[in-house]
Amino acid sequence: MSGTETLGLTAVSHWIGGRPVAATSGRSGVIVNPATGAPIAEIGFASVEDVDRAVASAKAAAVEWRATPLSKRAEVMFRLRNLIVENRHRLAEVISLENGKTIPDALGEVARGLENVEFACGVANMLKGGYSEQASNGVDVYSIRQPLGVVAGITPFNFPAMVPLWMLSNAIACGNAFILKPSEKVPSASILLAQLAQQAGVPDGVLNLIQGDKVAVNRLLEHPDVKAISFVGSTPVARSIYETATRKGKRVQALGGAKNHMLVLPDADIAMAADAAVSAGYGAAGERCMAISVVIAVGAVADPLIEAIRERVARINVGPASESSSEMGPLISKEHRDRVASYLDAAIAEGATLPVDGRLNPATGGEGFFLGPSLIDHAQPGMRCYDHEIFGPVLSVVRVETYAQALRMINDNPYGNGTAIFTQNGGAARQFQFDVEVGMVGINVPIPVPVSYYSFGGWKSSLFGDLHMYGPEGVQFYTRSKVVTSRWPDPGASKVDLGFPQVR
Ligand code: NAD
Repeated sequence: MSGTETLGLTAVSHWIGGRPVAATSGRSGVIVNPATGAPIAEIGFASVEDVDRAVASAKAAAVEWRATPLSKRAEVMFRLRNLIVENRHRLAEVISLENGKTIPDALGEVARGLENVEFACGVANMLKGGYSEQASNGVDVYSIRQPLGVVAGITPFNFPAMVPLWMLSNAIACGNAFILKPSEKVPSASILLAQLAQQAGVPDGVLNLIQGDKVAVNRLLEHPDVKAISFVGSTPVARSIYETATRKGKRVQALGGAKNHMLVLPDADIAMAADAAVSAGYGAAGERCMAISVVIAVGAVADPLIEAIRERVARINVGPASESSSEMGPLISKEHRDRVASYLDAAIAEGATLPVDGRLNPATGGEGFFLGPSLIDHAQPGMRCYDHEIFGPVLSVVRVETYAQALRMINDNPYGNGTAIFTQNGGAARQFQFDVEVGMVGINVPIPVPVSYYSFGGWKSSLFGDLHMYGPEGVQFYTRSKVVTSRWPDPGASKVDLGFPQVR
């Protein structure tokens, strides 16, 4: 953590030009430990001038960085990779302190983020262009990919290290300068990442951090020197960022919220499906965009499946990350915890049942923002618990009679981030993969987050923009192609010809 002591709290600052820089807006927030409700640090919010300063620093640094040989950029990424491995426990601790997730979960997040740095180490292979010799007489045509210049990322509270690494690894390896606006609730992991990047040899100004809220975001969206925006967060903000930044002529990938369905066919292995539903529904207290929030039970599988889920939910150990026995931590804030809990009464009022009420869990209450895991049965479209992204430890079960009904429900949902099918029938799984209108599909895999050499992205209201995040599409997003037509003629054969150039 960098900065000065203010109000007895450490002040979290921006990181511009390779060093901590205090915010100048006079506006600030407080970072709170969700496990205790206690303030950890003060965070100064950026003014428009602070953002302009970061952009100017990035613009200056980008000139030399894009001219730095690919092999040198790869070497820096290799060093960053090794430094993240060495510091993964420190990273996990700050993630856990500010977000509340358990240490093993935070280490898992770091590992999945690290994959993107490893992918970026081989970016040279992705930046190869094409070459056509003798496209016309003595004429060769080739394409090259060049960085955009200054690009920016805005990230959510639920993955303080992984989502920044989704963006910054490829952005920087491709030769851009990157400005990150992390979530104001969990800024410290990105400060540590920026320090490690500096140690790895990322030149000052190539990676800048701006702390703050929508004032900072809005300035990034309109600044003429910012060429592209990557966003991950909730759907209303994603949509608005996409609309605003594209109007300003920027390239945008804006990933939004989710309502991920897990379809369980009658032939599925009940114990395996229940293990998967519980792991994917309640891991990270349900605060994952790839969490399973709805289980669709087809036919007779419903009763035994719900019983198996109920048994497992009762055994989940809820508590602070500081206790090694804790499997599920608190929610991010008191307001969010209360909002999540409000879906439980609504579900009952709307005709669902509540086989497990997380409010009765002994961990609920107290100063931390804990809410035990809840299970809703007989949920239906039209109920709030089904229609809204709850983003908490609440799993809803919908009962249907046929695969066709289940498929229609998933395809009618406005979100299309992730989904999973559980079955022992390969043909049924393949049909689902063909039919379903969702961007990431798991077959007996409940959280199908793609590995870093594929790309991550949902469909419909889960992603605004054309290119998915990280992997090959990430490289495409952070570069633009240039096509060169070249001739090295014998000057003696040169003549004026006003006709349109032809190739035959
Ligand atoms: P959020 O949308 O509230 O905030 C995300 C970022 O946007 C933060 O940096 C925040 O400061 C900024 N922001 C918030 N309101 C803004 C506004 N009005 N104008 C400009 N910027 C604004 O999201 P969150 O609560 O931090 O994260 C949870 C959400 O993120 C959930 O909806 C979850 O599904 C989604 N999410 C999606 C993915 C994905 O890959 N699709 C991954 C992780 C999280």
